Parts: sequence; structure tokens; C-alpha cells
Amino acid sequence: MNILLDAGSGGRASMRLIHDLFFKYFENDILVKMDDAAYLEVQSPITMSTDSYTVSPLFFKGGNIGTLAIHGTVNDISMLGARPKYISCGFIIEEGFSLEELEQIVISMAQAAKEAGVKIVTGDTKVVTKGACDKIFINTTGIGEIIKPECEYGSPSGANAKVGDVILLSGTMGDHGLTVMAERENLSFVSDIQSDSANLNYMIEQLMLEVKDIHVLRDPTRGGVATTLNEIAEQSKVRCVLYEEKLPVHENVRSGASILGIDPLYLANEGKLLCFVPKEKAEHALQVMKADKCGKEAAIIGEVVALPEGKNGQVVLQTKMGGMRLLTMLEGAPLPRIC
Ligand code: MG
Repeated sequence: MNILLDAGSGGRASMRLIHDLFFKYFENDILVKMDDAAYLEVQSPITMSTDSYTVSPLFFKGGNIGTLAIHGTVNDISMLGARPKYISCGFIIEEGFSLEELEQIVISMAQAAKEAGVKIVTGDTKVVTKGACDKIFINTTGIGEIIKPECEYGSPSGANAKVGDVILLSGTMGDHGLTVMAERENLSFVSDIQSDSANLNYMIEQLMLEVKDIHVLRDPTRGGVATTLNEIAEQSKVRCVLYEEKLPVHENVRSGASILGIDPLYLANEGKLLCFVPKEKAEHALQVMKADKCGKEAAIIGEVVALPEGKNGQVVLQTKMGGMRLLTMLEGAPLPRIC
């Protein structure tokens, strides 16, 4: 069955889609009230984030556009030290899109949301004429409650990196970016890899409650670890030094990326986080990460040092040979529609 234009009209056909699909799988007490807005109760200051997902292909090893739309927003709202609570989702669907594929996407979104402990509380569906969008685009917006550890520390922020901090990465680089690229372009020399797309909220909650003094948390999505670290270095006016030999990369990602001439430091991740902590907390943070199912390959990858005079945030790689290489921010978009 294919989705027709009237499924987004707001009339009977829309109602059927809402009841037979979205309510069936997203079911919760807030969503089913069907008022103009969701009535939410929160206990503390909140974080909020929105993102639109246009990944192509829609289904890839390790996930699909629906899981990505939940994981991505759950992770962003968690990065400020928050517990994700509520999510909205908006679907823009191309006329003629397969109802079976939409159902598969909705089922996996429901599972991903359940796993993160978030409720999908409001949503919207529009169907546009053929060619007006590519199959399906999804927007998700989320709200998280700030976790208040019993301490004086503030929320993590990209502007909080301090000279002397240790930089940790929760696992391998580039799995998502290379997987999507390989499937889209049918790259047969890339094998046995899959997207790392995952919810990181429980790892973050443990870091906040156990390690407490977390200066920065950020997920290195588009642009990869190198670009995300450049953003942080500029926000905090510091220099980040990475140790090349400590950077975790799966062998198949390393070899596939090298054939393509891409550095895994610039490939997108969807289930990884960068964490900056004071040196004396680094080992504890590493243990907390490794105890989480998404952090088994976590590593200490670098440190924060003072910025050279006249510079505006800098990231350098200390190579295996002992040299130093400047890692600049990614220019342009060599990998469009990766998330
Ligand atoms: Mg992010």
C-alpha cells in the first residue's frame, strides 16, 4: 500500500493514519489526548533541541531514519546533563511512499524511544506531491530535565573546556558516516561495518551522577570528531591536543576510509560522545563509559592546553611519528544527507 495525498489532509484519511499507525506504536497517556498541544509536567530546568532527518538511504546497517531521529534528539538534549523526557515528531512524506516502510520506521522509533525512556507526546504528518521531497523527512524536537547531581557543578557546555582537562571519546570513529556512504554509493570494498547510532542518555546520566565534574559533553555527529573539537576549542578559547595512537577506529572503517581518501576524524558518528573532565577525574570517567554498552571502546584521546597568542581555538594532532598536524574544521558538505 502507498500513502496518498489525503493522508496528510487533516480529514478522515489522516485520522486513520494517526490511529492505525502512530497511536498504535507510540501509545502513551499524553499523546492519546489529542489536544492541540501536549500538557507536560517537569520538575526542573529543561533542555530543548530540534533536528531534521533526511538521511539517504532510509534504511542502513545498524538503523534507519526513524532510529536516527530518536537517537539524535535524545543525545542532543542529554548533552547538557539532562534526562530526556518528551519528544515530538513531524513527518513530511512524499505521495506514494510505501505504508509498509513507514510502519517499519514508526515501529523502530517507538522501540528507540522506549529504550531511552522518552514519550513521543505530539506529532504532525504532511503528505506532499511526488518530487516535493525525497520519500520521507522527519523532524524531532525533545525536552530533557536537568539532572542535578548533589554537587555545585554547572551543566556541561562547549564553553567550559579548561586548560589541563583530559578529552575522552566514548568509542570508535566514523562507523555511521562510512556505513551510510558505502550503502548509498554501493561501495563493495567497505564490508562488515554498521552505524553506531544509539541512545547515550544512560551513559550521560551515570557520568553526571558519578563523576559529577563534567566540563564538556558533545556528540561528534556531522563533521566528525575533528570538527566538533574545533567548535569546542573556539567556544572555550583553548587548544585541544589529540594523540593519534589513542584514537579508536575499527579496522574496516580505517581501511575503507583510507581507500576513499577520507580521514575518520571527519566522519559522522551517531552514538558517540566527547567528554572533557579535569585530569584527576579522567580515569573514573573512562570506567563509567566502559561500563555502558555504548562505551566499551572508550578511550582517553587528548588534553586541553593553553591557546597560542592570537589564535581563536585550535585542534592539533600529535602524530605517531611525533609531529604535530593542525586539524581544521570541515569545510562545506562532502557527505550530504548523512543524518
Ligand atoms: Mg549534537
